[in-house]
Amino acid sequence: MTTLTDTPSATAEKKARTEFNKLQKRLRRETGRAIEDYRMIEDGDRIMVCLSGGKDSYTMLEILRSLQKSAPVSFELVAVNLDQKQPGFPEHILPEYLQKQGVPYHILERDTYSIVKEVVPEGKTTCGICSRLRRGTLYAFADRIGCNKVALGHHRDDILETFFLNLFFGGKLKAMPPKLLADSGTNVLIRPLAYCREADIQAFADHQQFPIIPCNLCGSQENLQRQTIKQMLQQWDREHPGRSEIMFRALQNVAPSQLADSNLFDFQSLQAAAIPLTPAGEDSGMSPLAETRVNTWSPSA
Ligand code: SF4
Repeated sequence: MTTLTDTPSATAEKKARTEFNKLQKRLRRETGRAIEDYRMIEDGDRIMVCLSGGKDSYTMLEILRSLQKSAPVSFELVAVNLDQKQPGFPEHILPEYLQKQGVPYHILERDTYSIVKEVVPEGKTTCGICSRLRRGTLYAFADRIGCNKVALGHHRDDILETFFLNLFFGGKLKAMPPKLLADSGTNVLIRPLAYCREADIQAFADHQQFPIIPCNLCGSQENLQRQTIKQMLQQWDREHPGRSEIMFRALQNVAPSQLADSNLFDFQSLQAAAIPLTPAGEDSGMSPLAETRVNTWSPSA
């Protein structure tokens, strides 16, 4: 509440604080809702939080830590970063940050950068293979440290982008699920930020002044198709606010019988029920045929 004695700068500060509190509450609420809807976290879980040094993973760690304090279940969080030996990777940033926050962590070192440079031809995008190598190393490490869950920082907009990438370029109706079993079958991957907007995460990260480590130290460009999709979604949201929410809701509201995938719906066995014969003119008043005039002609008449 503004009082008569407030200076303009104190008022602006109060307003900014209120806005930030709202943003934080929204991120907590949406993360909590996703966790509950998909039963992402259970009592006794030991969760490996993958921390890349980008805005999404810092925000995820921060929100999970804050939810941990008031959650009805008890769970552990362990931050893990993979140093992929990209040139100029600032090794000191994450250890300093995590020690300051009092978060237990592991930093792994594996030179996936050299592998990627060796196997990907010059000029081709390297993100696909780089991410696969990173995931493989991290998931195997989760087993080693006894983590039954692995938390990834993908948010709602990442999920929608992936959906459209698969739709436009892959010929598949497929996105990134909020929860899935890792290929190894030994741990479950969760995406607690699945309901959060990227813009909210960006605003939160800016406010918190996280020590961001850019992902393009390797010199690679973000996948061009993904950039195009991102711009398309941003433009849609500007022109039709709320469209992304609606599209995300559609991912949670699938009607397999209204699509065309025989593996999801048994079209082969679709059979009409036998129709009881009704003498002409005896349709019940409820039937749409009761008020329908029928003109019949047949060549044999
Ligand atoms: S930008 Fe570089 S480090 Fe990031 S995923 Fe792509 S190849 Fe890997």
